[in-house]
Amino acid sequence: MKDGLNGNPTNKFVGGCQIARMKTCVIGDDGKLDISEQDIPAPGHGELVVKMRACGICGTDVEKLHGNYPSRILGHEAVGEIAFVGEGASGFEVGDRVFPHHHVPCYQCHLCRSGSETMCPGFSQSNISPGGLSEYFRVPEWNVSRGAVFKLPLELSFRAGAMIEPLACVVRGLKKVSFGPESFVTVVGVGPVGMLHVSALRIMGAGHISVVDISEERMKFARKLGAQDSFSPGEAVKGIQECSGGMGSDITIIAAGSASATDTGIATLRKGGKLIQFGLPKPGTLLKSDFSSIFRREISIITTYSGIERDVAEAIDMIASHSEEFEGIISHTFRLEETQEAFRLAEDASAARKIIVEAG
Ligand SMILES: [Zn+2]
Ligand SMILES: [Zn+2]
Repeated sequence: MKDGLNGNPTNKFVGGCQIARMKTCVIGDDGKLDISEQDIPAPGHGELVVKMRACGICGTDVEKLHGNYPSRILGHEAVGEIAFVGEGASGFEVGDRVFPHHHVPCYQCHLCRSGSETMCPGFSQSNISPGGLSEYFRVPEWNVSRGAVFKLPLELSFRAGAMIEPLACVVRGLKKVSFGPESFVTVVGVGPVGMLHVSALRIMGAGHISVVDISEERMKFARKLGAQDSFSPGEAVKGIQECSGGMGSDITIIAAGSASATDTGIATLRKGGKLIQFGLPKPGTLLKSDFSSIFRREISIITTYSGIERDVAEAIDMIASHSEEFEGIISHTFRLEETQEAFRLAEDASAARKIIVEAG
């Protein structure tokens, strides 16, 4: 095993074994956020241990703390440097700057071969441990051997790297539809992932982008990223009709989890339009939209969950060539010790854009 801890003063050797401690942020037995110490994980065969440098806080992390999500592992938007290379993990060196993807499909089963890779049973079973909000985390052989650990281009900072995972999810959703310079696209909800959608849509060549939100502040930022029009939810349907010459939106993306956001989004679509549900609805969410009208207007409703290696590769290229723009979406940075505060701010999303935690 090669290691990158030599010279670290917290390093101790006990009985020939290297023991070092690290800070980690996990969901405790009481369901609350717990910042504690534990041993730095050691890599098994084919595994890597990564020293976290930056990790974004995702809406799903907040939902996990509320018990609304099956997984309890916090932090999946992490980038860092390789600290240990396990036996058999070839192609990696201590010190490599990497983005390790947390969930990785098998790429062999029927679901994978049919394009539903994120529904593969292996996908949600693979994960980094103890999570991205830890000073160090272990990347399993399953992920390493399937090409899910990406080396970061030099021009991509760790801070911008924290946007790779969410942008990969955005890319996957956008690839489920086609759009071009003629297209009218609407993004409902311009929190951090809505903002990523606006940037990605502009870079990928969408003609006209409208955004819908309750926050004037967020819509102002979205206009900076390339949205031409912005509307409050009450004005959205009429406003989008007008700016699309009476037609309605070709594609509407719901980057929020509430039923009302989806209902508004459906109403903004033109006949034959497509809705992409990106935001995570809470369990039990029911829509008010009239299904008969959805049918008669030939509306397609497409859901999208997470992303795979292909999407990650595209996200890395996109961020590397627009590094400043993506880094600019970050509004708050916390130290790992301050994660509690980071989550408090993430709860009140209106006060922030993307929130990240840094270490190292
Ligand atoms: Zn996420
Ligand atoms: Zn599979």
